[in-house]
Amino acid sequence: MKIALDGPAGAGKSTVAKALAKKLNIMYLDTGAMYRGVALHMLNENVALNDSEGVIKALENIDFLVKYEDGVQKIYLSGKDVSAKIRENRISAAASDFSALKPIRLFLVEMQRKTANENDCILDGRDIGTYVLPDADFKFYLTADSLERAKRRVKELAEKGEIVELEKIKAEIERRDYNDSHREFAPLRQAEDAILVDSTNMTAQEVEDYIAGIIKAGK
Ligand code: C5P
Repeated sequence: MKIALDGPAGAGKSTVAKALAKKLNIMYLDTGAMYRGVALHMLNENVALNDSEGVIKALENIDFLVKYEDGVQKIYLSGKDVSAKIRENRISAAASDFSALKPIRLFLVEMQRKTANENDCILDGRDIGTYVLPDADFKFYLTADSLERAKRRVKELAEKGEIVELEKIKAEIERRDYNDSHREFAPLRQAEDAILVDSTNMTAQEVEDYIAGIIKAGK
């Protein structure tokens, strides 16, 4: 079984995907974490966004691994666990910028398709239903209004000790949404056959139950 869960930043995709993976006993692949890991590598290597040769070189040299430890996805760069570092707010913006570059997308999409071919899984991201797994068994597009998404992100960062202003995060989220939906290659968009779920006034549990109900009925 393959499930695609797409949507803009902060819509609650990873919370719901994690819970569904557990419930259905399938693998969860957080593709955003992969873009974050590659963006961190580009920053570490001081590669500029417009340096296409530098990007390709950095991709050739990257030592990048997605691992599962006690069922939790981790990202390793050059043998180092960077799973916490990639959650920093500066990496959110860098991931959105670097993810527009086609060589980076092709590099990660190949890994994502391989994982999906070898496992029953749920993938969350921006282009899973439209590009990575167009034949997924179930496709969902999870969204919420940007103020609600910003509030959730502020809370999530605060829990990790990073204090940020709501207005600033809202503006950043809107910039990311714009970037992600306006890039040329595999932009963020709802697949025609995806079910739209607006979580603005829903709890994570309600979203999970709603999606799980659809999957159960469709089996
Ligand atoms: O989901 P998350 O916020 O961690 O994703 C970080 C960034 O990675 C997104 O803003 C987006 O630019 C990029 N991304 C993407 N395609 C995916 C997953 C994430 O372009 N499938």
